[in-house]
This record gives sequence, structure tokens and C-alpha cells, in this order.
Amino acid sequence: MTVQVKGPLSPRPLRPFERILTNEDGGIDTPARAPTPVLNFGTLAVHAGSPHDPATGAVIESISLSTTFAQSAVGKPIGLYEYSRSANPNRDNFEEAVAALEHARFALAFSSGSATTATILQSLAAGSHIISVSDVYGGTHRYFTKVALAHGVEVTFSPSLELDVEELIREQTKLIWIESPSNPTLSLVDIRNVATVAHKHGILVVVDNTFLSPYVQNPLDHGADIVVHSVTKYINGHSDVVMGVAAFNSDELKERLTFLQNAIGAVPSPFDCWLAHRGLKTLHLRAREASKNALEVASALEASPNVIAVNYPGLDSHKQRAIAVKQHRDGMGGGMLSFRLKGGHSAAERFCQQTRIFTLAESLGGVESLCEVPSAMTHAGIPKEQREAIGVFDDLVRLSCGVEDADDLKKDVLQAVEKAAVGAKLSNGLNGSK
Ligand SMILES: *Cc1c(COP(=O)(O)O)cnc(C)c1O
Repeated sequence: MTVQVKGPLSPRPLRPFERILTNEDGGIDTPARAPTPVLNFGTLAVHAGSPHDPATGAVIESISLSTTFAQSAVGKPIGLYEYSRSANPNRDNFEEAVAALEHARFALAFSSGSATTATILQSLAAGSHIISVSDVYGGTHRYFTKVALAHGVEVTFSPSLELDVEELIREQTKLIWIESPSNPTLSLVDIRNVATVAHKHGILVVVDNTFLSPYVQNPLDHGADIVVHSVTKYINGHSDVVMGVAAFNSDELKERLTFLQNAIGAVPSPFDCWLAHRGLKTLHLRAREASKNALEVASALEASPNVIAVNYPGLDSHKQRAIAVKQHRDGMGGGMLSFRLKGGHSAAERFCQQTRIFTLAESLGGVESLCEVPSAMTHAGIPKEQREAIGVFDDLVRLSCGVEDADDLKKDVLQAVEKAAVGAKLSNGLNGSK
């Protein structure tokens, strides 16, 4: 049986549970892909990277806060670890769990989703070129345009990647950056189509899978080379940890990104790794419930006369519904949706003040439902013209559905839509204009 290399240190033998997590006939056989897991998602979420403590039998791993580890002779650590920036037990266990859920051979954790992006971009030489979907996460857009550019890495944004990708590829193109679904308009990219073109030119494809979580979508199965997450969102799921992770299959990436993880040092604390790992164990339950709730809320909004349009990949009306059916588990839409309200920006703002269960706040993917107005909050940094070109209108509201009861969420949203609309009529009457 092949052993799995963890961290920059020596290989360690597979633990008893890992043996049944991998193929019975020989573990990690081909270097290009992770073995097909023999266990299903929920079982992996609970057990992958969760060994019992061999000394005490503790079922839950302890939090290993030690920054340094004793050596029996110079350069001969007693165990697997030397210094906790390089590797530590809690991070190793979390990384192993994420790798299992993303069908990856390797995963590396970082101090935030943004640090994950930054570390991947640091692996590119000056003069490299990236092609990215236009409506990427605001922080990713900021990193691409304000930080990467200063280091000689240029990014071209495309609102229709699948159509343009071949033309946009240059000699120096090294990476294609996809977010599917995108934020906040929930448009989808056919990962396989883009990866097929990219791979003909030796270009890597990165997919930011934050919005769906590994429960709903596994980008590596559709040809992506790296999948990244803001763990802050669904994977941790309880709005109490900021963290990121990247998962991939190639040995070359493993070597390069492990080196950068250690050299740059944007690493999460053992405590955060422990918390995020605890959150991950219920990811399947939370993601399933959030997706069910979002579908009910989206359907109710679509039927409301006060709503202009609903963006939700779980609805048959979504223009790329076929991609969702192909790429997402059971065609699920995930927990995120956005919609346009009649009555302009003020109606969108009023909506967010009238909800009783949905909290007006940035972020997403937690057990509690949140709402926000992207044009004035998460996407305020993008100039209005550019924003509207990608569908981020002033009247757009984004919802992150949590795991409360669907009926309560639906009622909350509908009463807030009603109040926002009444407010719009009142102010129209007073001002005589929109
Ligand atoms: C939040 C988020 C990020 C950034 O992650 P942080 O953990 O906040 O640094 C990246 N991509 C997406 C899609 C996000 O929602």
C-alpha cells in the first residue's frame, strides 16, 4: 500500500481508517487522480482525517497548540512534526478531510480564502497571464487588479468565459480562474468545456467552489486542476472561523504549494483547524438543508409580483440549469440566491431592514440566514457601469439561506418583500417619481 505524504516531512503510514477510505486494491495508485472513495460523502465527512488518539482512545482529536516538537537527535524529530508553521496535527487532519471530500490527493489549508488565492498566484512567474470570469469574489478581483498586477501578473476578465477562452489565451497564459456559481448573480460555467480548451494549451484551471461546497460540486471531477474554498463559509459553516483551503492532485503542485504555504506562512492556527474540522463533519447535513431552503425561498420569490427576477441555479428558469444538472449533486442549486426587487435600490435596502430571521450582514454559508445588497456592500468597489454589465443592479438582494425551517424563511422573505413594496409605493406617491 502506498503511503500518503503529509506536509513537508517524511511519509507516514496510513492510519487504520484511511485504509478503508481508499480503494481496497491498493490505495493511491495513479498519481494523476485520487482513488475513487469507497465510502459516501457523509461517512467521509465524519471520519476522514479523524483518527482516534492512540494514547488515550479519545474519539475527538485534541488541539495541539505546541509550536515546536522535540527531536531525539539533530534533525531527527521524535514524531512527524518539527515546527507548526510547516505542519501540525490539527492542520494535517483538516487537510486530509477536505482532500477526501473534494476527491483530491492533497489539500493545503491557509489563514483565509484570500491567503489561498494569494499563495496560488505567488506560484506564477512575473510576466504570467491569467484569464478570469468577470464576476469573481470582490476580494479576488481586488487581489488580481491591485496586488498581482504590481508583481507583473496580468489578468483578463471575461463575462462569457466559455465562448471567449480560446481567443483570450496568450503565450504567457498560465491559469484560468473560474467561480461557478458566480457571486452574486449565480451564473454558471461549464468547467469541463473550459478545462478541455485550457489543457490543450497546458494551462491550469482553478475553480473557487466556495458557493456550493464540496457536497454540491466537486470541480476536480469535471477537469479542474485546483479547487479553492473560503473555509470561512460552508466548510466551517458556523460563522466563527476565517480560513481557506486548496485541493488538487498533482505532485508538482503539492511540492510547489507546500513550499509556498511554509515560506509565505499564511497558515491557520491549530484551534481554527480544529473548529473548521468540527464544522466540516456536518457539511452534508447543512448543505442539503440550505439548498432545500433556498429552493423554497427562490420559488416563493419567483411567484411574487414584486420581484423582477430570481437568480438561482436550482430553478428550471435559470438560463444555465442544464449545467447545474450536469455539475451539481442531484442538480441541487446550493444555499445562495439573488433577486431583483421592484422599487429600485431603496426597496432592496428596505427589504434587508424588514427581515426578522435573515440578518443584514456580509458573508454566507453559515447555519444562520443572511441578506445583503451587493451594489452597496460586497460589490460597492466595482464601478456602477461594470457592475450593471454583469447583472449587479442597485435593486439586487443576495440571500444566504441557513438551516432554519423552510416555512419560516419563506414567510420572512415574503413579508419583507411586501413591506419593501409598500414603502416603494408610498415614496412614489410622495415624490411623484421613482
Ligand atoms: C469569502 C470568499 C472568498 C474570500 O475568503 P476569506 O476567507 O474571506 O478570505 C473567496 N471567494 C469567495 C467566493 C468568497 O465568498
